[in-house]
Amino acid sequence: MSTTAARPVPPAPVCAPAQVGPCAGCGHPTHRYGLGGCPLCVVCLAKVEAGRAK
Ligand SMILES: [Zn+2]
Repeated sequence: MSTTAARPVPPAPVCAPAQVGPCAGCGHPTHRYGLGGCPLCVVCLAKVEAGRAK
């Protein structure tokens, strides 16, 4: 019986460290600030997009 549900972890941000911040959804470090930044990581963003598609 599996008790450790694998939570999707976003890939490490490939931007300047100063532009890294916690994801608004899951708290994982993500490219949050500056050019191309987003308050949500790719994993949470995908969930939002999936919800929109319905
Ligand atoms: Zn997230």
